[in-house]
Amino acid sequence: MPADPPADSLHDQLRFFRDLGVTDLFLEAPRGVPALIPGSMPDLPSLQKFLAGCPRCKLAKGRTHIVFGQGNPKADLMFVGEAPGRDEDEQGLAFVGRAGQLLTKIIEAIGKKREDVFIANVLKCRPPNNRNPEPDEVASCMPFLQEQIRLISPRVIVTLGTFAAQALLETDEPIGRMRGRWRTARGVRVMPTFHPAFLLRSPERKKDVWEDMKLVRDFLAAP
Ligand code: URA
Repeated sequence: MPADPPADSLHDQLRFFRDLGVTDLFLEAPRGVPALIPGSMPDLPSLQKFLAGCPRCKLAKGRTHIVFGQGNPKADLMFVGEAPGRDEDEQGLAFVGRAGQLLTKIIEAIGKKREDVFIANVLKCRPPNNRNPEPDEVASCMPFLQEQIRLISPRVIVTLGTFAAQALLETDEPIGRMRGRWRTARGVRVMPTFHPAFLLRSPERKKDVWEDMKLVRDFLAAP
């Protein structure tokens, strides 16, 4: 008899199942709620419609808006953050608060506008008091991010902060070790960097993000 799965982190739980030889996990959605079949959505508006009113996890109770993400549906560059905060929950848009204003500057620093890129989060609903996402919430929401990535098909994804990098790259490595190094997730190049909210608290790390973004800019400039 295998031991019970550990309850501490999503990564540990996924590793436990992988070690048992499990390659696909299907989560039971609440009764009558259709599961998203990967690859089934023809475009982003259809996916957004499919997500409308989502009751798939406990964050549904406390949210004002589902924050689907916004931007160019054919962007070559996509940013992925953690989860909506208070401003995002109120407005239904990703990265519109103070961290979002800094993200705009980061995007503009490499010669792009916000409208050129696509900005999304791992979680589409705000966790209470901006607490860390929980494994069941990530498991419920990740298929929606994966489908967004498939439909947008960006050349580069920049993950913002520890959480987005760990969730997308399925690792528990610390962000300090991951940032500035190219990774791959589902065939797409991923550049992990620091979260703009962290930069607001630690402005001396902005130069690291600038280094990371120069790598992104140069990669995108190459044919
Ligand atoms: N932080 C995030 O990770 N995402 C947002 O949309 C806003 C703040």
